[in-house]
Amino acid sequence: MQYPPIMKGFPELLHGGDYNPEQWLRWKDEIWPKDMELAKAAGINTLSVGIFSWAVLEPREGEYDFSFLDEVMDLLAKNGRKAVLATPSGAKPQWMAEKYPEVLRVDAERRRALYGTRHNHCLSSPVYREKVRAINTALAERYKDHPALGLWHVSNEYGGECHCPLCQARFHEWLKEKYGTIERLNESWWNSFWSHLYPSFEAIESPSPIGECDNPALTLNWRRFTSHQFRDFYEWEIAPLKAITPDVPCTANLMAAYPGIDYFDLGRALDVSSWDNYPQWTGDSRDARVLMDAAFNHDLMRGVGGQKPFMMMESSPSAVNWQPVNRLRQPGVLMLQGLQAIAHGSDSVQYFQFRKGRGGAEKFHGAVVDHVGTRETRVFREVAEVGQRLRQLKAVTGSAPESRIALIYDWENRWALDQAAFGHKNHQKYEETVRAHYRALKGLGHDVDLIDQTCGLEGYTAVIGPMTYLLRPGFAEHVQHFVAEGGVYVGTYISGWVDEDDKAFPGGWPGPLKEVFGLWDEETDTLDETQHNHFGWKGRTYQVDDYAALVHTRGAEVLALYDENFYRGYPVLTRNVYGKGKAYYIAARTGEDFLRDFYADLLSRCGLDPLVKGLPEGVDCASRAGDAGRFLFLMNGNPHAVTVCLPGGVRAEDGEAVCGLTELRPWEVLALRLNEGA
Ligand SMILES: [Zn+2]
Repeated sequence: MQYPPIMKGFPELLHGGDYNPEQWLRWKDEIWPKDMELAKAAGINTLSVGIFSWAVLEPREGEYDFSFLDEVMDLLAKNGRKAVLATPSGAKPQWMAEKYPEVLRVDAERRRALYGTRHNHCLSSPVYREKVRAINTALAERYKDHPALGLWHVSNEYGGECHCPLCQARFHEWLKEKYGTIERLNESWWNSFWSHLYPSFEAIESPSPIGECDNPALTLNWRRFTSHQFRDFYEWEIAPLKAITPDVPCTANLMAAYPGIDYFDLGRALDVSSWDNYPQWTGDSRDARVLMDAAFNHDLMRGVGGQKPFMMMESSPSAVNWQPVNRLRQPGVLMLQGLQAIAHGSDSVQYFQFRKGRGGAEKFHGAVVDHVGTRETRVFREVAEVGQRLRQLKAVTGSAPESRIALIYDWENRWALDQAAFGHKNHQKYEETVRAHYRALKGLGHDVDLIDQTCGLEGYTAVIGPMTYLLRPGFAEHVQHFVAEGGVYVGTYISGWVDEDDKAFPGGWPGPLKEVFGLWDEETDTLDETQHNHFGWKGRTYQVDDYAALVHTRGAEVLALYDENFYRGYPVLTRNVYGKGKAYYIAARTGEDFLRDFYADLLSRCGLDPLVKGLPEGVDCASRAGDAGRFLFLMNGNPHAVTVCLPGGVRAEDGEAVCGLTELRPWEVLALRLNEGA
């Protein structure tokens, strides 16, 4: 599938990063021209500006001073670089907090913040919204015809929550819109429990450690509301940008599986998904796992953007400064980190940050240009190598992975499971479980799309939904239709327990999915870390950890049985023929050994061939396809060399035919083209 370039008329893989020239205003004659030379030398074609510039752009209320930005935008245009131009709402000027305390957030214990740090403004505040609208309008008016303007970077890393009276009032309005009457809300939330019936919407307070913190429906809906606030605020921010610069795409930089925002929902409002990638590289054998976790994050961020090319908006060129142990990147890891993003569908490799500031909280965070200020550093040379490689890979721009396998990761389900009081209380390991299924699929050499319960299932051969505890409206019907029409669906223990208000389904588990799975899941045993069960399947024995569901088949075929405990002989793996398709149920949490063997068998039955067979552990494999052909990337996350067996009909970037056994050096990336007809 071929998509247009992210920046109109700029069909390049983007390479660049966050640039804060206002920190060097006093030394601009020396530093800014030098920065342009260094950017050119590093193969950087894009710089993100204005992210934290509000206090410089509006030093006093209503008095704008765009002189520094004018000069920087002109400098970028003169040097053939594109600007990712930010709206400054990620951090507000001090005068605003002093004059309008309503812009400051209130925490869950109802304490209003003082001025300071960043990302801490109230999204409901009419004052804040008006100030944001005004400066965004001024920025768009000023730079609408500027040749450097390529993309709008809206705010920065949206997150957090506010419990102020303005937010409580908006929460009430949101609830009214959703439930209509307080009686309906009380019933939907089961509020007769503990005598918690609300007399009115206005009586509802957001969850608080000093108030209501034990009503799962309240907490779940507060999280939905908070997430909705960010989408609403984003839409508010882009309204003037869209009105004045309709051809310039907008994005907000996301943070992978950050829990606070349903990114699939926010993603629908973005022109392009973008995210900040900070893997905790260890420089040893644990990097294999770090690589696979980063792969998941990339695929998730591509998913929230609708599977189109996305952007890696930030990554660190060297050690960061906020992890417990901030290691340097081993030689080669920077290339691996950058090209892994490309492999999974990013059309950019961007860094935080281009030049290190001399002061402030991030002065020791990795940067393309270190305090020494020259290109004579190891990091700079590696960045320049990435730039060169991206130019060689230009034909990849706009292509996208074409996966026939979808794995479900759903924020609302996660919120419900995060607070779920049963089994392993407050530790249901939902995200870890989805990641385990992902690693099994990727380890077999397949491309995987990550979707949520609201995404369509059409076009997929196999859809996997681990632990779909909460079923969102319409999802069960989509699964039924998908399987009836010939799809293969895989579900697990702890599926179909509750509806959208975290209320248990009557009639037994897995709720409205009972028929498609052809079974009834009666109870679920919880095992501690010393307790296990086992089962045999296709001649091997596998271990059960944490959860074991006790199911009764109602038409499903039994494929494996528990070996131990009073539920010895109960089914642990089943398959149900439903319409033209099949639904599998994995009734227990297993190790990745089982998942790998199970998916190898299942996907081969589905006729889905891996990109590369027999991938060594810790090697990521991903492909993209577009008008220029198909591209295959192999990435070694190991600190040792591995040998991969390449499929026939591939050639390297330089056109050399390669086939058969090929060695990948530690942290090496191989970028290949699949020949026509291969
Ligand atoms: Zn507020």
